[in-house]
Parts: sequence; C-alpha cells; structure tokens
Amino acid sequence: MSKVFSCFVAGKSVHSSNMLTIRSPYSGATVGAVAMASRADTDAAVAAALAFHDTPSRYQRAEILEKTRHALEVQREEFAITIASEAGLALREARYEVGRTVDVLRFAAMEALRDDGQIFSTDISAQGKSRKIFTTREPLRCAVAITPFNHPLNQVAHKLGPAIAAGTPIILKPSEKTPLVALKFAELLYAAGLPGPMLSVLLGPTNAVAEPLVRHPEVEIVAFTGSVPVGKRIAATAGYKKLVLELGGNDPLIVLDDADLDLAVTLAAEGSYRNSGQRCTAVKRILVQEGIAPEFTRRLVEKTKEYVCGDPLNEGTRVGTVIDEASAIHLETVLKEAVAAGARVLIGGERRGALLQPTVISNVPRDCRMVVNESFGPLAPIITVRDLEDALTLANSTAYGLSSGIVTTNLNSALKAIRTLRCGTVNINEVPGFRVESSPFGGIKDSGLGIKEGVIEAIKAYSYVKTFSLPW
Ligand code: NAP
Repeated sequence: MSKVFSCFVAGKSVHSSNMLTIRSPYSGATVGAVAMASRADTDAAVAAALAFHDTPSRYQRAEILEKTRHALEVQREEFAITIASEAGLALREARYEVGRTVDVLRFAAMEALRDDGQIFSTDISAQGKSRKIFTTREPLRCAVAITPFNHPLNQVAHKLGPAIAAGTPIILKPSEKTPLVALKFAELLYAAGLPGPMLSVLLGPTNAVAEPLVRHPEVEIVAFTGSVPVGKRIAATAGYKKLVLELGGNDPLIVLDDADLDLAVTLAAEGSYRNSGQRCTAVKRILVQEGIAPEFTRRLVEKTKEYVCGDPLNEGTRVGTVIDEASAIHLETVLKEAVAAGARVLIGGERRGALLQPTVISNVPRDCRMVVNESFGPLAPIITVRDLEDALTLANSTAYGLSSGIVTTNLNSALKAIRTLRCGTVNINEVPGFRVESSPFGGIKDSGLGIKEGVIEAIKAYSYVKTFSLPW
C-alpha cells in the first residue's frame, strides 16, 4: 500500500526531492513517503492564509465539514488501515479513532450553523442608556496547529474541524511519525470544497517549519498537542499570541474498597491498554485501597490475558506496537528501574521490537519514574493506598493535571474526589479518558494552561468576540 504523498501549501502540492519515508513500527515495511516542505513553503503558507478574505458562509463551512464526514465514512476502512500501518495501533483501535473523527466533523458542522451571538440591554443600570450591545465571533487571520503521533487522525480533526467551523485559515504541522493519515484527511477536505488558502499542511525540519510558524508575529494562535517539554518550549518562544497547550498526562484511576470490582478491573485494563497505552488520558497509575487490592490485582492479571498483543492488522489483536522501538526500549528501562526498586511484574513485560506486552506491576514504589512521570505505553502499575485521603494526596502529587477516574459506590467519596483532585476532568466510575468530542477537554499544571479544547471550546479559541452596540 506504499504511496507517495506531498505536503500542501494553500491547497497545492509541494514538489520536493526531500522525502520522508514512513515505515510500519511492527514490520518495518514502507507504508508511504512524503515530499517535505521548505522554509519558503512555510512563508508562502502564512502569506496565503493572511491574504485570504473570502471566508465561506456558515452554510458553506458546514457543508464542507459534512461532505468530508460522508467521504470519511465511505473510506473508513482505508483510513483505519493507514493509521494501523503507520502508527502500529491495532486495527480495532484505528477503526474506533475514525469513528471519533466522524463525530468531530459532525459536531463542528453543527456548531458552524449555530448562532453564537449574545445581546445585552444597556438600560439595566442607573447609568444605562436605551441601547443594545451585541456580540459576534470573527475568525482569526491565521492559526497554526501542531499535533502528536498518538491519535494521528483525531488530533488533527480536533484542530482543523473547529478552525474551519470558525472560518479561520489554519496551517497544520502533523507528527513526522504519523503524517500520512493527516495528509489523506487534508485531501478529503479540499475535495469537499475547502478553499486552498484555508489549509496548508507542512512537514519539514523543525527550524524550517515548526519553529518559524510558532514565532511568526502574524500567526494569531498556536494550538499545540504534544509533550510537556515541547509545549513549554513553544510557550517560551511563541511571543504575543494565543496559545492552546494540550500536554502530557499521568492520570490516576482510584479504586476504593466499596468499588464494583468487575467494573474497576475493566476500567483499569481498558484505561491502561487501549491505544497501546498511548493516550494522554490513559490510566498511568492505579491507586487501589488496601482491602480490595489483592483481589483486584488477581482479577486484573486475569483480565490482561484478554489483551492479545501482536500484528496491528490482525483482527484478533487488541494491543499493537508503541510508536517505535526506541519508545518500547524506554518503557522497558522504566520497568526495570521499578523492579530494581522493589516492584513485581505479574504478567507481561516482554518486548519484541516495538511490541511491548500489556504489563501489570504490583508493589510499585511511589517515587519511581513510572509513577512520577508519564509512561506512554501499556503499563498498569498498582500502588496501594490506605484510604481516600491518601489516594487523593498521591493523585495530586505529580506535576501533571490532565484527567482522573475514581471507582466507588459512595457518593460522598465521589464528591470529595471531584472537589479535591487538581486536574481538568474527574470521571466517576469511568476511565479518565471518557469524553464526547464536543465537551470541554484539557488539563492544568504541566498538562496545560486550563484553556480547553473539544469542538465548542476550540471554535472559541480560533475566533475572537467582537462587540458592537446600536441605539435601541
Ligand atoms: P512531541 O514530541 O511533543 O511532538 C508533538 C509535535 O510537536 C510533533 O508534531 C513534533 O514534530 C512537534 N515538535 C517537536 N519539536 C518542536 C518544536 N521545537 N517546536 C514546535 N513543534 C515541535 O509529542 P509526541 O511524542 O508526538 O506525542 C506524545 C505526547 O503528546 C504525550 O506526552 C501525550 O501525553 C501528549 N498528548 C497530549 C494530549 C492532550 O490533549 N493533552 C493529547 C494527545 C497527546 P516532529 O514530529 O517533527 O518531532
């Protein structure tokens, strides 16, 4: 299925002899190649966005998004195979991701049609007058989006869909590890009628593409999803512009003694292993209360056997590779460090190339790297806690603050967790990653600036509110 792709400047293919080859993390086979962009292409993309004034109407924007959704539904399987091939994710995960992207497009089209203005009467104060103030949202002149390798289609859709709904021209810099599905998605958008200058897709050396885009004084917003170090570097270099930073996570799943044990085990396994554990909101620490810990651990080990790890394109596979062998080796190192500090591997732990078996680890010390930092892979570290208080203190103890889950049948415990956890989301009896594509999503502390994404919030980010008043 190897194919040659190219970057796009304002809807036109970039011609270049500088090619990036994408290989399957599982087999090493070539999946595709991309003609890369240059610094001149980057400048041309910004110039084209700034020069574009012919913003499509709300109806036209909704139509573009809806036509793209239809086309994606028709090509659902082809897109899923591309994701599974370039990212190493199990085909069933890739299909799920395409389904989420369909939702993003549907919700963005709905929002494009929704009037977002407000009206304020001004004769409501002693100082007032008989006038009315109205608000309307205006597009920004040029947005930049930078996306990570995990969820390589849905992350891209969460940037492009809302920008299009807002009428804002956008330049996308997808991950070099998974660019093919992003370029295929751009092809669908152009075919659905998106004006070329409203979207450029660029890949190339960081100093020729990403950095000039981030620093560009006329780019009005940088929306970045990725790691904490890169996000903080962007915050330090972007200058005077809007920033949306969706960064790493180290999400806890708290399991209390009164939990429904079957539910807790299912959530722990799904949260830890889905997408090969490579979700910003994956369960990265399982904090289990003492009384339930032995039985929970025994059942999680049993459950883990259902998560068959192997060839991403096999129908029976539930866990594919992580993004590359280097990442799998890093996870193996983190695992060995934990074992050296007293942890026990109860199942999994074996690595073959970029494949890492889903792994349950018990007796994990609270200060080891696996607990303190983000481990982006199918690891399920169990840490025993005394009580709710202990669990909440430990949950809040890392630098991250993205999301969380708590499994309990006690409403008071649930309410206390919602009030106490310092993070963007608290899900009761659900995985931290539970959401719908239009609900507000994003973290605090090192996980983000507290500015949310999700289709509705992102549309606000890609636009500004203009206020005008009229005599009335
Ligand atoms: P990453 O290494 O930070 O890369 C993300 C993007 O930034 C890539 O497109 C990368 O380009 C680009 N980049 C690298 N250096 C840059 C620079 N100096 N300036 C501007 N852009 C630069 O992250 P990743 O490894 O792809 O993704 C995994 C991380 O993303 C995890 O930490 C995960 O938790 C986080 N994440 C967060 C969320 C959320 O919503 N909070 C969602 C998903 C993932 P290249 O590909 O060219 O290096």
